[in-house]
Amino acid sequence: MDRAISYKVETMREWGETIAKTFRYAPGEGGWTYFGACPRCGHETTTSVRRGFIQKAITLKKEPPEPVFLEELPVECSCGQQHAPDKTGCGAYAVVYNVAFE
Ligand SMILES: [Zn+2]
Ligand SMILES: [Zn+2]
Repeated sequence: MDRAISYKVETMREWGETIAKTFRYAPGEGGWTYFGACPRCGHETTTSVRRGFIQKAITLKKEPPEPVFLEELPVECSCGQQHAPDKTGCGAYAVVYNVAFE
């Protein structure tokens, strides 16, 4: 909850585990979205996953807003807050496994 958290690109296993447990993953307009509070900086973050990425990741027969399942989803903080003069998001990222958008 603190803008004093400085921008730093790093991956942390706990960060990914918390994302997996606390974020919501859902079909949305034109694709899929996931949202929740970044465990590192505490800001709310909402990210859209484009159809192209999902179609590359899995063989998809259905159009949104059908649920989809991804074995791996790269997630980064995109909270929109400036954690450095030219950077938004705090830089935390991880791969989240077995994500169901439903
Ligand atoms: Zn933030
Ligand atoms: Zn963050």
